[in-house]
Amino acid sequence: MSGGPQAWPATMAPISAPDPVPPSPDEKDWTWVLTTPCPECGFNAAEFEATDVADLLHQNSADWEQILRGDDAVVRRRPSPATWSPLGYACHVRDVHVLYLERLELMLNEDGPQYPNWDQDETALAERYHEVDPTTVAVELRAAADALADRFRTAADGEWEQTGYRNDGAEFTVTTFAKYFIHDPIHHVHDARIG
Ligand SMILES: [Zn+2]
Repeated sequence: MSGGPQAWPATMAPISAPDPVPPSPDEKDWTWVLTTPCPECGFNAAEFEATDVADLLHQNSADWEQILRGDDAVVRRRPSPATWSPLGYACHVRDVHVLYLERLELMLNEDGPQYPNWDQDETALAERYHEVDPTTVAVELRAAADALADRFRTAADGEWEQTGYRNDGAEFTVTTFAKYFIHDPIHHVHDARIG
């Protein structure tokens, strides 16, 4: 036994259990979603403007509220060792909202900043994604989404062309950053619903 992600069958995972092993880090470069429809969730960045992202965030939070109101066992169940539970995805999305607001503020306040690193799997374990209360997460996710949406809504015309850099060198403007960002919460609604 390697003790890897197959530590227990997902369907038998107890609710209170040793720390789950996160799914493998996704090392794909998702920037292609800016030019190509996502074959998994159907997201198509060509179909909306960056200024629509605030409204898309609002709709997405409603999707998460519906998912998190579901049966507790389903909300906490990981369908396979390679995926998170709906609750885990919701926690991730909440934290991505917080992270992207920080990155957005950096882009708006500094000249071409590089974003600090973020390890999503380390965060998942440190913040006990598998032990938290779904109702609380729904409220926190909505609050984080609203804060980010508000900042997008109040962006001045000139601010949409401000730039920032990921640690791999990928360059974003606030426009491409917004359109790139919104794929993540939409894609994970798809993940959580197909569970
Ligand atoms: Zn997708």
